[in-house]
Amino acid sequence: MTKLRYERPVIKALNTGVTNKFGAQQGFIPHTHIDGVAVKDLIAEHGSPLFVISEKTLRDTYRKAKSAFSTRYPNVQFAWSYKTNYMNAVCNVFHQEGSWGEVVSRFEYEKALRNGVPGDKIIFNGPDKTTDDHRVAIANGSPIHIDHLDELYSLIELSDEMDKRPRVAIRINMDTGIQPMWDRFGFNYENGQAWDAINKIMHSKKLDLIGLHCHIGTYMLAAQAYGVAASKMADLALNIKKKFGHSIHYLDLGGGFASKNTLKGAYLSGSDVAPTFADYAEHISTALLNAGFEPDELPLLILETGRAMVDDAGYLLGSVLANKRLSDGRRATILDFGVNLMFTSFWYEHTISPAQECSQYAEDAVLYGPLCMNIDVIRENVKLPPLNKGDQVVVHRVGAYNMTQWMQFIALRPRIVMVDLDSKVHLVRDSEDLDYMMHLERVPEHLKSFEL
Ligand SMILES: *Cc1c(COP(=O)(O)O)cnc(C)c1O
Repeated sequence: MTKLRYERPVIKALNTGVTNKFGAQQGFIPHTHIDGVAVKDLIAEHGSPLFVISEKTLRDTYRKAKSAFSTRYPNVQFAWSYKTNYMNAVCNVFHQEGSWGEVVSRFEYEKALRNGVPGDKIIFNGPDKTTDDHRVAIANGSPIHIDHLDELYSLIELSDEMDKRPRVAIRINMDTGIQPMWDRFGFNYENGQAWDAINKIMHSKKLDLIGLHCHIGTYMLAAQAYGVAASKMADLALNIKKKFGHSIHYLDLGGGFASKNTLKGAYLSGSDVAPTFADYAEHISTALLNAGFEPDELPLLILETGRAMVDDAGYLLGSVLANKRLSDGRRATILDFGVNLMFTSFWYEHTISPAQECSQYAEDAVLYGPLCMNIDVIRENVKLPPLNKGDQVVVHRVGAYNMTQWMQFIALRPRIVMVDLDSKVHLVRDSEDLDYMMHLERVPEHLKSFEL
């Protein structure tokens, strides 16, 4: 006779999810399908853990954002922020919808080129551009967003050397009433640095100043900050016209719109407090339309929306490895994915649903990842129906910054699939294996053998 498993019981009050002031508790509704495909089938076919991207949600979100802006302002262009999620399949959905590319490194720049984005529709941002990066961007006619004076001088030298007129914008940082102020990128509006840079560019006559750019922060819950930013950008553009008779072709308001994820420690859930695309669009377009541009001189409005565009479309599926009791009696559940795959669990309280029928009883639990590392915590405290070994879970809103900031630490990275509009599943990135990792390693000759 096999011995039955025994665990010393812990007596704890169970909570059925009483209604609090925000309504009934949620989280006990099993999430069994994604766009018509069963979670258990996805895991059976592609393994656990597994990232899943919904093409439908990507396109729906893009169209919502596009319509919020283009119904309020005549001339709008989105540029996809590669660093937010640079899986080619994701980028190409946005490019098919009409997005340009927005990149912050040579690696991302080359990725956008290889995806087929024309050079003049790749916006090159960021403080890290080498002389060679500049040469390539100038040759391709890409808009180069200048971050600092060293970059400005370098571009002036290159324009002589290459006998070309680089197309540039400058990045502006400013006080929009939000603390802390992001002032490490670009030139400051209030203290005159921005005008310094503008004067240098205009007097040099070597660079074509086609735009002004700002990116005032990320996960910005205050939509009115964008109104302030748009007014200040418009003020610069109008005064450049007055002083130099030069029209600025575009104002790029960057990214930073909040997604519907909930920040750690937030009182209200993200889906209750995050402004809608319409809220942001209202503030930006009102500021631009009232700024004093002649109707036929309204600049193109560029938006580099990242997280708010892609977060909802990403899911992470995983499985329960084990349960245990902590020394204080708390329930702990160990999952097969951790902070290695979910970088955003450091600042979000991600919603996690069971993927199969579950009990309506709930218990406070801590969710751990599989890493042998104390900080590998997915949720510090979450009320969930008790999950058993082998049960599957769905983590919501992981489309932004996880598939780019994930770490190859202790474990190899899993597959990513995309569910298309007909519920067909496509592999868009394979899992890593030992050969993939070893491919990059070199062992010096004298270290190739040993005896033990
Ligand atoms: C990161 C970044 C974005 C995208 O930001 P989100 O907060 O994800 O919308 C856009 N523009 C620039 C310059 C960035 O660095």
